[in-house]
Amino acid sequence: MGFIPVNEPLLDGNEKKYLNECIDTGWISSEGPFVKEFEQKMSATVNRKYGIAVSNGTAALEVAVQALGIGEGDEVIMPTFTIISCAMAVSKMGAVPVLIDSGLHNWNMKADEIEAKITSRTKAIMMVHLYGLPAEVDEILALAKKYNLKVIEDAAEMHGQTYKGRPCGSFGDISTFSFYPNKHITTGEGGMVVTDDEELAQRCCMLRNLCFRKDVRYVHDEISDNYRFTNLQAAVGLAQLERLDEFISRKRAMGKYYTENLRDIEGLALPIEKTDEADNIYWVYGIVLEEGIQADNKTVQKLLAQEGIGSRTFFWCMHEQPVYRKMGLFHGESYPNAEYLARKGFYIPSGLALTREQMECVVSGVKKVMKQIQNETR
Ligand SMILES: *Cc1c(COP(=O)(O)O)cnc(C)c1O
Repeated sequence: MGFIPVNEPLLDGNEKKYLNECIDTGWISSEGPFVKEFEQKMSATVNRKYGIAVSNGTAALEVAVQALGIGEGDEVIMPTFTIISCAMAVSKMGAVPVLIDSGLHNWNMKADEIEAKITSRTKAIMMVHLYGLPAEVDEILALAKKYNLKVIEDAAEMHGQTYKGRPCGSFGDISTFSFYPNKHITTGEGGMVVTDDEELAQRCCMLRNLCFRKDVRYVHDEISDNYRFTNLQAAVGLAQLERLDEFISRKRAMGKYYTENLRDIEGLALPIEKTDEADNIYWVYGIVLEEGIQADNKTVQKLLAQEGIGSRTFFWCMHEQPVYRKMGLFHGESYPNAEYLARKGFYIPSGLALTREQMECVVSGVKKVMKQIQNETR
C-alpha cells in the first residue's frame, strides 16, 4: 500500500455537477447565485439567521472580531492550545489575547480558569471547540452573561456537532466555520461567519468586501480586506452539505474502529467517545502519549512516516509562539496541560476518503511504532 496521507477529502457527490454549472453559466466570482444559497443552507444547519461566506476560517475570525468592534487595548480570553488563527484575529486588531489552559480529558479550554482572568478590559471570550468535542458551553455562556462579554464561537471543527442537542455554531454572538479540506465540510479554502444579529451580519458583509460605502462606490470609511468567497467554492460547499449527516456517521464509525483497535496499546490516551453533552465527531483522530512514554509526538510522527503513515502533531501553544514572545507577550506564563498536549499529542489519518484497508494499515503501524518506542525506553 502507498503512503497513507493524513487527510483526503471525499468529493464524489454533486461537486462536479455544480462546478460544471458555474463554468456553463459563467458565474465564477463571488457574485454567483450559489454563494447566497450556500450561506442560507449552511447557516440553517446551525439555526442561525445570517451566514456570511468568506475566503477561509481565519478570515471568518478576523471579520468576527472586527465586527464586534474589538480593538486597541481590549482583551479577549481564549485557549492557549488552539490554532494561531484565533490569536492573530485578535492581535491584528491591536487587542490582546488572554490565555487559558486546557483540560487533559477533552483538550478544550478550562472554563473554571476563566473568571480569574477577566478584567475591566475584557471584551469577549473566544470559545473554540477542538478535535471533535464541544467546549464547556454552558459555563462559558454563564460567565459571558455575568460580566457582559461577547462570545465569539470558533466552530471550525464542529460542522454537525451538537452540545446538549443544540448545534455548535449557534452559541456565539457571532460564530465561525472553516471549510478547509480537513474539516467535515470543505470548499477547498473557505469559511463562514454566522449570527442572528442583523446589524452584525451587515457589518460582516461590509468587512469581507473592503468596506465599500453603500451610497458611493469606491469610497471607504474603514480598513478591512478582500475576503470574498467564490461561486466555485459555494458549488463544492453545496454538494458537501448535502452529505453532512453521512459524513458525521463516517467519522464516528472511523473513530469507533480506531478506538476498538488501538485501545489495548499501552501508553496511548485515546479520545473520549462521549461526554454528557455530546458524542465525539472526531474532527481528526487525536492521540496523546501517556506520562510513562518518554518520546514526544515528533518522534512518533517520524516513525509513523517510516511506516508510510501520515500524521500531524497537535497545535503549538500561543504562549510559546516566537511571534508573540517577540511582541513581549506571555512572558513567564505557563499552562501545563496545554504544553503537555502540544508535545505529546498527534493525529493519525482520518480524512473522509480513508478506506477500511488503510485504517487497518494505520492500526498495525501505530502498534509497531509504539512497540519500538517502548523498547527504547526500557
Ligand atoms: C481550521 C481552523 C481554523 C482556520 O481555518 P482556515 O480555513 O484554515 O483559515 C480556525 N480555527 C480552528 C479551530 C480550526 O480548526
